[in-house]
Amino acid sequence: MIAMDENDISFFKDGLRLDGRRADELRPVKIEVGILARADGSCYIEMGGNKVIAAVYGPREVHPRHLQEVTRAIVRYRYNMASFSVEERKRPGPDRRSYELSKVSREALEPVILTSFFPRSVIDVFVEVLQADAGTRTAGINAAAVALADAGIPMKSMISSCAAGKVGDTIVLDPMKEEDNFGQADLPIAMTPNGDITLMQMDGNLTPDEFGQAVTMAMKGAKDIYELQRRALVAKYSQISTDSAREE
Ligand code: UDP
Repeated sequence: MIAMDENDISFFKDGLRLDGRRADELRPVKIEVGILARADGSCYIEMGGNKVIAAVYGPREVHPRHLQEVTRAIVRYRYNMASFSVEERKRPGPDRRSYELSKVSREALEPVILTSFFPRSVIDVFVEVLQADAGTRTAGINAAAVALADAGIPMKSMISSCAAGKVGDTIVLDPMKEEDNFGQADLPIAMTPNGDITLMQMDGNLTPDEFGQAVTMAMKGAKDIYELQRRALVAKYSQISTDSAREE
C-alpha cells in the first residue's frame, strides 16, 4: 500500500470538493422513522455514504439488577460497525474505538433525556453502522435522537450532530472518508437546537481562528440536520394521525 499524507492529495477541483460540494455544504441526508417493527423506536439515516440504523428499547427493567438507579433511568448506547461496512473488513465485535464512540454518543444524548421519569429502568440505544464513509458517530447520534423521539422517550429537546474538518488548509463541513483520512483536522459536535453543545471532539490541529470557524460551521450543519430530523418525525406522525382519522 502506498503511504499518503495530506500533501499528496488535492482536495479541491475548480473550487469544489472531490464530491462536488462547496466547503460549507452537507452531504445529502435521508431520514426514515420507525423502520423496525420490534423496537420501541427506530430510525434509518443516510448521510452521504454512511448508512446507519438506530433502535431504541425501553424504558424497561434493568438487567443485571445491580445496575439499577433508584432515582432515574440509566441510558446504554451500543455503537457497532458491521464487518462489511468498511473497505477493509472489520473484525466483528467491540473494540476500543466502539467503546469510545458508545461512551461519547451516550453522553451526547443523556443531558436531554428526562431519565428521572423512569427510576430503576433502562433505555437501550443500539446503533448499527451498515456502511461507513466518515462521520458515523454523528450519523449514529442523529439517528439515535430520532429513534428516542420515535420511542416516545420524553426529552428536553432534539440532539443533532455534525462534523467540520480542515483539508488543504480550508475548513470544510461534514468531511467524507478521503477528507477525514487524509485531512488536517476533524471536529465532530452534537448540540440542542438552541446551540447547547453536548459533544465536542477534535483530531488534528487547528489554530484558534480555524477552531472558531470550524465550530461555527459544524453548528450550522447541525442546525440544518435538526430541521431534517424534525421533518422526518412530523412526516411519520402526521401520516399516523391522518390514518387514524380515516379509521374513525
Ligand atoms: N474506518 C474504517 N475502518 C475502521 C474504522 C473506521 O474504514 O475500523 C473508516 C470509516 O469510513 C469511518 C472513518 O474511517 O467512518 C472515520 O472513522 P472515525 O474513527 O474518525 O469515526 P467517524 O468519523 O466514522 O465517526
